Amino acid sequence: MLVDAHTHFHEIPPDERAKYMGMWIIAVADDLESSAETLKLEGEHLVRCVGIHPWSVGGASSAHLDELEKLAYRGEVECIGEVGLDRRRKGFSKQLEFFRRQVKLAIDLGVPLNLHALDAWRDVLEVLDHYGAERALFHWYSGPTSLLPELEERGYFISVNPCVVFQRKHMKALEQASLEMLLTESDGPYVYRGVKLEPSMVRESLKAIAKVKGISLAEAEELVEENLMRYLSR
Ligand SMILES: [Zn+2]
Repeated sequence: MLVDAHTHFHEIPPDERAKYMGMWIIAVADDLESSAETLKLEGEHLVRCVGIHPWSVGGASSAHLDELEKLAYRGEVECIGEVGLDRRRKGFSKQLEFFRRQVKLAIDLGVPLNLHALDAWRDVLEVLDHYGAERALFHWYSGPTSLLPELEERGYFISVNPCVVFQRKHMKALEQASLEMLLTESDGPYVYRGVKLEPSMVRESLKAIAKVKGISLAEAEELVEENLMRYLSR
């Protein structure tokens, strides 16, 4: 089964969502509103996340975090994401405050984290270490390859986006990462360098994994599904 371990599924029109129901979908949220929307999504292999994205932190207050916690305890939340830190954006200390609370929330709920860590790869890892987070996925990892062994040691994952074929930094990470760390993602419906990403494009990520790691496409698909099971199980 194909795996999209990071998609903003609530942004995909309802009539288009149906065609992805034969896949594993991890639906991440960006703010309070999209968290509530994501919790309403249905699907046998759909994993619902709630979270306040570092890009949404600027317009949010601690009351939003209180609301998010209420929502998380009320709904069937299976994951916290997309949360994290982003050094390219302003307001790092506020991002940190929001991220810490959401990491604690994930640990209290016993669910995995789905992370955004652009240019803040080590910062994110330090917060996870501080709280002892057990399950985490660094989405679209394009950070330093020197950090990968540390992520592997902790049993963390990285997800491979279809753009790996033309984004050099992301490809370097794929080349260096161990097989056990790999998941696939689309980040759809995000548009990157003119490419509109969508869940079915995880096939391209699988092809890249197969090619780089010297395994068959079927083996790559099986590997990613096995890794997903470890990411999702307590
Ligand atoms: Zn995303």
